[in-house]
This record gives sequence, C-alpha cells and structure tokens, in this order.
Amino acid sequence: MTEPSFLSTHDPAPYHVWPARQRSPFLLVSDHAGRQVPQRLGDMGLSDEQWERHIAYDIGIREVGYGLRDRLGCALIEQVYSRLVIDCNRAAGHATSIPAISDETLIPANNSLSAHEREAREEAILHAYHDQIDRLLDQQGEEETVFVSLHSFTPHMKGPEAEQRPWHVGLLHDHDPKSAQIMRQLLEEEGGLCVGDNQPYVLNPLNEYTVPHHGATRQLPALEIEIRQDQIAHKEGQEQWIERLARLLPRFWDRRKGQST
Ligand SMILES: [Zn+2]
Repeated sequence: MTEPSFLSTHDPAPYHVWPARQRSPFLLVSDHAGRQVPQRLGDMGLSDEQWERHIAYDIGIREVGYGLRDRLGCALIEQVYSRLVIDCNRAAGHATSIPAISDETLIPANNSLSAHEREAREEAILHAYHDQIDRLLDQQGEEETVFVSLHSFTPHMKGPEAEQRPWHVGLLHDHDPKSAQIMRQLLEEEGGLCVGDNQPYVLNPLNEYTVPHHGATRQLPALEIEIRQDQIAHKEGQEQWIERLARLLPRFWDRRKGQST
C-alpha cells in the first residue's frame, strides 16, 4: 500500500505563480509570502496570536509582491506555506529549515521530527517550489533576467539582544554586490530612507538558499530586498513601497545592464 502524500487533496499547491503579462527582465520571488499549514499539521501547537507574528511569515510582503507584479507585468512566484512548516529560504537539512524554536517561541509540531517526516516536507514543499523557480528561469531562455527576492523583517527580535533595527529597507548581496550598490544608491536618492547594506542579515550560501541556489548558480543579476515590517504592515505603506519599487527597478536595470556580475 502506498503511503498518502504529505499534502492532501484539500491542501493548496505549495506555490502560486502569477505569470508575466509582458516581456520583462524581472522575476519576483517571495519565499515567505504565505502562512498556510497542511491539514495534517493542524495549528502546529501555536495560538492564533503566534500565527500573526513575523515568525509565521513575512508580514506585508505578499501584498507588495502582488502589487509590484501588477505594475511591472513580470512573473511572480510565491511560497504558499508558512516558514514554520519549512523555510524555503534554507537548504534542506539546515539547522533552521524546520525550526523547533523561532524568536523564542517553541514550535511544538517541529519538535523531534524523524528524518522521514523532514523529507516529506522537503519533497512536497521545498523542492516543489524551487523546481518551479528553475522552470520559470529555464523559460526565460536567453532573455535577460534579473532575479528579485522579496522579504520583510521584524523591527526588533525578542530577548536580551533585542534592539530597534534602524533600516527602513536592506539590500542583501553576495555574488552580485554591484546590483545592491546601484539599488542602494537609488533608494538613498529618495531621501529619508535608512538603507542597510547586508543588514539586517548578511547574505551567503550558509544562511540563505534562494538567491545563492538560483541567482548565483546561474550568475544572474540579483537583488534581495528586505523591507522593515512596520513600513508595509498596512495598505498605505504597501502602496508607497509598490510605487517606489515599481519606479526604481526599471531605473536600476538601466544602470545595471551591460555590467558583468
Ligand atoms: Zn523572509
């Protein structure tokens, strides 16, 4: 008898693709857009209040990604499941791939998982999502492609190390510092924005997965944009950031293209 698959027929597909409406160099990728949970995991032992927190998803980024895709007419792929089910910006087997604790909160459903249970989540969600990103990049063929990874970060973590993070937006980079530098300059020219350079996180293949795995492997120009969550928690802020990024990304690409990574 074959084992039932990790996702049931009642569960949503692990990713959602908004196809391009016109030729565009941009591919938008949103690893932490969703907070769905497969039926078999219930509420994962967490309260409704915990599901509203940044540990479950990147607050505001789904709306920003969707609006940006609408404005640019490019393709967008969103991860549908919560990062607490499996974090799609971590390699399989990474210590924080299926976190047993996140920002001081215990995640009961992730405690003492067997290798078999981990593999089931990797197969059904992580690999399915990244295979689809691969297919979207393959479809670009010889067309110029800019890989744009969208995230949001909490203004402050809990615990004794907690401090207010001053950056309104951060640009994370590793294989392609030139793209981050050009975009940072454009954001700073807006006036009034504190722009982080590899802040609040440093991008590298050990602590992240999506940009190193796709952007660096294919040597694509890439941006990883992290917006502070209080900026985009509400509609007004989301619309400001959609307008700003939709205006700046084509200008960024005008300056960036022609330069090698
Ligand atoms: Zn994120």
